[in-house]
Amino acid sequence: MPRFVIQKHAARRLHYDFRLEVAGVLKSWAVPKGPSTDPRDKRLAVEVEDHALSWGDFEGVLPEGTYGAGRVLVWDRGDYRTLSERDGAPVSMERALEQGRAAFWLEGRKLRGGFALVRMHRGPERNWLLVKLDDEEADPEYDPVRERPESVLSGRTIEEIT
Ligand code: MN
Repeated sequence: MPRFVIQKHAARRLHYDFRLEVAGVLKSWAVPKGPSTDPRDKRLAVEVEDHALSWGDFEGVLPEGTYGAGRVLVWDRGDYRTLSERDGAPVSMERALEQGRAAFWLEGRKLRGGFALVRMHRGPERNWLLVKLDDEEADPEYDPVRERPESVLSGRTIEEIT
């Protein structure tokens, strides 16, 4: 099973780096508000450069003067599987992303269920929306970003990363 990871990153601006293992790299999006489990929410997800798979284990401080300087914690991670289909046959994540719409099922510690990344029609091509699909794991009452700020690796909050 391919993996996903979400790293909370207190850089110049706080954001959540959402990463999916695709074809041997971590495809990555910066999500300023973090993910939502409410299907009515649409969270901006700005595509950023691919990262090496090993980056998904990083938790710590990126020193001043380096790109993305600031604290990073592993906010959630787990396996995922594609939900994208065409004429009843599964579509690879690579192909789905090329086409600008990928649906997938996350098996994380904080996030579970179907989500989709959809490229926006307007504005820069790197702008996508991350949305929760309306399935049995959808929960408008749950606010994982607020209720579960801690690292799934160490239990530390972003302030405790030194
Ligand atoms: Mn980042």
